[in-house]
Amino acid sequence: MKELICITCPRGCHLSVDDNLNVTGNFCPRGAMYAKAELTHPVRMVTSTVAIASISECRLPVKTKEPVPKELIFPVMDEIRKTVVKVPVKIGDVVIKNVCGSGVDVISTKEIKE
Ligand code: SF4
Repeated sequence: MKELICITCPRGCHLSVDDNLNVTGNFCPRGAMYAKAELTHPVRMVTSTVAIASISECRLPVKTKEPVPKELIFPVMDEIRKTVVKVPVKIGDVVIKNVCGSGVDVISTKEIKE
């Protein structure tokens, strides 16, 4: 039996999962989906900031467009750390395409004009 806390919403249900991936303790179906994914193929959104070429004192907030496999979090962070963007940039602009071959883009979460 595994114990997990569902992080899908702020309610934070305490989940129990048996060896057959039967889930209890979830208030809604998303908890069961979360627990099964977490125990078979865990994924996470990655949020961070990247450097801006012309504005050294300011950084652009970014995030992965979709969750990436948990084992790719540090490689993704390494790519983000190496990235420098040029402004202007809009919300949703792709900052890193297909980061680490994950099939997921890193996108801007803020508009910066100059
Ligand atoms: S099981 Fe449902 S209600 Fe409970 S934390 Fe997860 S998403 Fe929220």
